[in-house]
Amino acid sequence: MYPVMLDVSDRACLVVGGGGVALRKAQGLVEEGARVTVVAPEVVAPLQKMADEGRLSLETRRYIRGEATAYALVFAATDDREVNSVVYHEANDAGVWVNVADDPEICSFHLTGRVRRGPLQLAIASAGEAPFVVRRLRQLLDRRFGEEWAEWVHAAHRFRDLVRGLDVAAAEQEELFDRFFSETVDEQKWRTRVPTAAEVESWLSDAGTETGDSNPTAIEGCHDRPGKTGFVSLVGAGPGCAGLLTQRGRQRLAEADAVVYDRLAAPALPCDLDYETELHPVGKEAGRHPMPQEEINALLVRLASSGLRVVRLKGGDPYVFGRGGEEAEVLAAAGIGFEVVPGVTSGVAAMAWAGIPVTHRREAVRLTLLTAHEAVKSDGPQVRWDLLAQDRHATIVGYMGVTALPEVVHQLLGSGMDPATPAAMVEQGTTPAQRKVVSTLKELPSAVVEAGLKPPALFVIGPTVKHAETLDWFSRAPLAGERLVVPDTARVALRKLEEAGAGVVPLPYPVTPAARVVMAALPITGCVVTSADEVDWLHEERGGPGWPADLVSWCVGHETAARARARGWRHVRELSDALDCDELVLGIAGGRR
Ligand code: SAH
Repeated sequence: MYPVMLDVSDRACLVVGGGGVALRKAQGLVEEGARVTVVAPEVVAPLQKMADEGRLSLETRRYIRGEATAYALVFAATDDREVNSVVYHEANDAGVWVNVADDPEICSFHLTGRVRRGPLQLAIASAGEAPFVVRRLRQLLDRRFGEEWAEWVHAAHRFRDLVRGLDVAAAEQEELFDRFFSETVDEQKWRTRVPTAAEVESWLSDAGTETGDSNPTAIEGCHDRPGKTGFVSLVGAGPGCAGLLTQRGRQRLAEADAVVYDRLAAPALPCDLDYETELHPVGKEAGRHPMPQEEINALLVRLASSGLRVVRLKGGDPYVFGRGGEEAEVLAAAGIGFEVVPGVTSGVAAMAWAGIPVTHRREAVRLTLLTAHEAVKSDGPQVRWDLLAQDRHATIVGYMGVTALPEVVHQLLGSGMDPATPAAMVEQGTTPAQRKVVSTLKELPSAVVEAGLKPPALFVIGPTVKHAETLDWFSRAPLAGERLVVPDTARVALRKLEEAGAGVVPLPYPVTPAARVVMAALPITGCVVTSADEVDWLHEERGGPGWPADLVSWCVGHETAARARARGWRHVRELSDALDCDELVLGIAGGRR
């Protein structure tokens, strides 16, 4: 097998077949600018759509003998082996390159798996011997190579032009290229950076005077490897929906050596955290007691003192009832560098999900966030209930308020607050497990008991609670309440599922320890699998914490569903592999229990 990259732009290419496989081949060719003809008696909707849009020409008929010979490149992707074989022989005899889907024996070329970052392409092949290995390697490499490689290749291209413009000998050019590489690529982490104009200028002006002492630790952010001083980022994970973790928080996590996380922060951990990142759960989890605050403080100091970059990941915002202030004080006293990355606090986010604007012009012009637990302690209340009770144009949001709720209500009513003030409680806000109870101040405690709401939950008291039904966008979303595990390679599908209201766990393969923490953090309602290979690797995860026995497996394609059933999976729902991502979402929404 001899690897090449073909320039197919404006070349006549033929795809015989009209199913999902033919669709992928046609899409790949069209993207590269080929003139594509698809021949098939019937085609899946997306192929028809591409034809309608004039992106390819479609012949809705059977293959006519001899026609393959008129093309530069031919793909046979029908489900009829005989037709595939005819196409192969005719093309091959005429010297036309031909690929038959799923039949490596009769192919004059194979496609490679590829990872693409701008003009940079890595191709992976196994000469047709082990396609599953190619797939997995591709996924591994896809995660290894960040998006920044695309920019980096462009920078390398510009650098090459500059070097070419210098009047220096070939050996010196190579030295300059070496320097560019060693200064901009972290070979251990597979990260790159784009050099500044000043740097490039200094390398070029060094040319000929010195050889460019290559310094592999010159990348920003790499010189603070373990062994030097540690650092702690106190990061807010947001209220539970993974998308509500900030960009900066995500970046700190990606660069961390160790992550110390609370239970409420677990669902927001990025599933693609490096395997080597140490994970330290310190919250209450099944069968474990939470770590006392002093021990958490000591752990942070110990990790950072050994030179690690530590992320202390806390639910919501670290400084909103998260004891972040106490941890920061300990770090400051120990002389350890730290920063705070704020998070979206649950008291605001859960309300948004519940249809309750925490302020509203003319209705509520003040927002009070309070910890109910502390506020009702008998050793001298720190909250002026009497003042809060008088403030009619205001919203009160109470954290840690399930057990304290009756006492809070008692205090407010005792201070003269209107018993009919709208009030609500929101449990597990922003997660697929979100539940809410809307009532009045007086009735809320009994309504909460009746509904069986449990922590984590927030109460909210104030005039804007009256919008909770009309502004409830979340529970109206087609996939609200679903928490789906989806292979992280299905990126478009992931996004569409999320847009449709589902919580999604983007599962990398091989499965990372972080992904296991995320799966266990909340109950999973289903998984989406798009190939038989995926069934095999997901099988190993099923039965782990978070995976209930009755979850639904949405299998794209007959082969996928057949493998799932063969593996003994229950509640297997088959979806056609001809569906595009929007149709997939509709299929799942329509087939829900
Ligand atoms: N620092 C966090 C709050 C920590 S205190 C923040 O800014 O959100 C823990 C309390 O937060 C819980 O008892 C509960 O009242 C509230 N909480 C956290 N996440 C929540 C969620 N997803 N839904 C409802 N309440 C939540």
